This record gives sequence, C-alpha cells and structure tokens, in this order.
Amino acid sequence: MPVSDPYKVLGVAKNASEGEIKKAYRKLAREWHPDQNAGNADAEEKFKEIQEAYDVVGDPKRRKEFDSGGLGGMFANGNPFGAAKGANPFGGGGVRFENLSDILGGVGNMFGGSGRSRTRVERGRDLEASVAIGFDQSIKGTEVSVSVPRRETCDTCHGNGAAPGTSPETCPRCEGSGMESVGQGMFSISQPCQQCGGRGVIVEKPCPRCKGDGSVARTRKFRVKIPAGVREGARIRVAGKGEAGESGGAPGDLYVIVHVAESPVFTRRGDNLEVAVPVTITEAILGATIEVPTLEGSKQIKVPAGTKPGTIIRLKGEGPAHAKGTGNGDLRYRIDVLVPNANELAKEQRDAVEDLATVLTENPRADLLSQSRRS
Ligand SMILES: [Zn+2]
Ligand SMILES: [Zn+2]
Repeated sequence: MPVSDPYKVLGVAKNASEGEIKKAYRKLAREWHPDQNAGNADAEEKFKEIQEAYDVVGDPKRRKEFDSGGLGGMFANGNPFGAAKGANPFGGGGVRFENLSDILGGVGNMFGGSGRSRTRVERGRDLEASVAIGFDQSIKGTEVSVSVPRRETCDTCHGNGAAPGTSPETCPRCEGSGMESVGQGMFSISQPCQQCGGRGVIVEKPCPRCKGDGSVARTRKFRVKIPAGVREGARIRVAGKGEAGESGGAPGDLYVIVHVAESPVFTRRGDNLEVAVPVTITEAILGATIEVPTLEGSKQIKVPAGTKPGTIIRLKGEGPAHAKGTGNGDLRYRIDVLVPNANELAKEQRDAVEDLATVLTENPRADLLSQSRRS
C-alpha cells in the first residue's frame, strides 16, 4: 500500500517535536504489533506502514530530507529501502519486525514509570538442578531437597541498582530508549546505547549490596516431590521456582533432573523391570517352581519343563508405576540356564552327567546337516 505522508500515518502535525513523534510511534506500534494482532493481515500492513513512517520522520536527518521533498518519492513506494536495493543492508527491502518487548522495552515513560531502571517486562530464566536418588526411592517415589543457586531481585535497591536515597536517571544519550542509531541517513542501524548499555538509565551511585546489578546471588532450598516410577534422566518441572522475572515478569521454572542409582537385581526396560534368573540344567529340563525377587519381597514362579535359555517369564503389572500414572509395568524374569564345567564337578555329579550322555544319544544336528547339503 503506497503511503505518501508519514506524518499522517503517525497522526502527528508536520511541526511535531521529536518526542511527540517518538511517543506517537510507540503508541501505534504497540497497538498494531503482530504479536497483539495474531492472524490479522491488515494489522501487519498497518504495522509496517507505521514503522516505515517512523523510519523517515523518526530520524532527524531523514525527516529534513523528507520535508524538503528528497525522500518523498521513495517513501511513496511503501519501501524506504527500495531505491537502493543493491546496497540494502536489510536484504531486499524487508521490513524488520521488532519484538514487541523491544518496542516496550525502550519506553520507560510509556507506562508513567519514570525513574525505574528496567521497564522491560521479562519472564525469569528457567533453572536446572539435578538430584541423585536410590533405586528403591525411584520405585516408591520420594521427596528430595534441592539447593538452587539463583539470581534474586536485590532487597536494598528493589532491583533498580541505585544506592538508597538515589534513583536512576534517564540516559541523556538515548533519552531512555536504550537504542541509538549508527551510520548515515538511510543506512543507519539501531544498536544498544553505548552510554547506558541499552538499559535506558544511568545509575550514578550504585547500590552497595548488588553493585548496581539490581540482583544478588542466593541459594534457595526446595522440597521437590519425585513421583513413583521415575526413570533415570527424568525432568521434573517445578513451576515458578526459577529466576525472578524483571519488572514484574513471571518467574521462570525450575527443572529437576533425576538420576536413579542402578539396582544390582532389577534392570529398566522401558516401563518394565527385568531380572536375570539362573536355573540349573535339571530345573530347565524338568521344570520347577522357584523363588524370585519382587519389588515388595519375593514370589514363587513356575519354570516350565523344557525352558530354553533367554525365556521370559512375566509377572504382569508387578513392575514400577508408569510415569503417567496409568498403572504399572511388568516384572520380567529372563531365564539363564547354568551350564556347569565338568572339570569343576564333584565325581558323583560328573558320573551322573556321563550316565545322562549315554542315554541322550539322539543327534540334535541331524536336520541341520541334511538341510545344508540339500541347499
Ligand atoms: Zn541493589
Ligand atoms: Zn542510553
């Protein structure tokens, strides 16, 4: 949409002061920002228009050029960079979409909150802590104490970084916007103000407690519930226990990473636990009822006659709780058939095995050999 008058777009008079233009721009940009008008294509157009208008009359040098008719034609394209595509620092005349918080961030006085150091409303950072728990605790669930080092708003200066009795002054260089333009005319770019580092304010006498940071390091302890059935590496979210937000922003979350000690008996297999169970060769041949460990103690299970090594015998639903609280996994017993070494057997045992050999004479490889010859 071609635009001819940036003053009209911003709704200000031709002789408006820099401050009035800035104020009008911020008000409109906030109103029409795409974040505030999701899915509204008209708002997006309008927002671009507002930015383009401000790109011209918000910059004293370009405003002068426009007023004298120099930039008028270019602006009428709806693209202030269109005329100089080859050298366009923004790549093909794209319109920059400033973050809404960037627009809001630069404007200390927009909310009437002058004198506050950081008007940028920001959610606090998420924090991470890890805990180590025993295997039994992972099965039954537990509660742990987690120490979390984090930054907290300084009590002495309430976060503005200024010594008691003083308050931060609006930065004279950027007039509180935190940004400054570098470069010439239409090739100027915005960058954080050199004098205030983008904060928009200057603290003459820093708060003695936080040295002007506005925040202090503090270690907090939290009790965190670990649910039954938790697995190695699980991340448990503790809402709101991360770092404090800035200027009234919501606090971040705390994520507790759980490390579970290994059990010498139970091995995790997804939602189930597996136990390697040795049986003797005769138990495997004849079948047997054997005692195996469970999470609560022990139980008898039946090993059928002719059980092969690697066979799994299941106790359904007797494993750990599912992470989502939807019942329990299984206990799985993997049968391991112990094969004794004849040289380590007592004479009586060895004699018995040799007797067995004289009666177990069927060749188990007969099929194997005949099939390989056929193919
Ligand atoms: Zn302080
Ligand atoms: Zn500044």
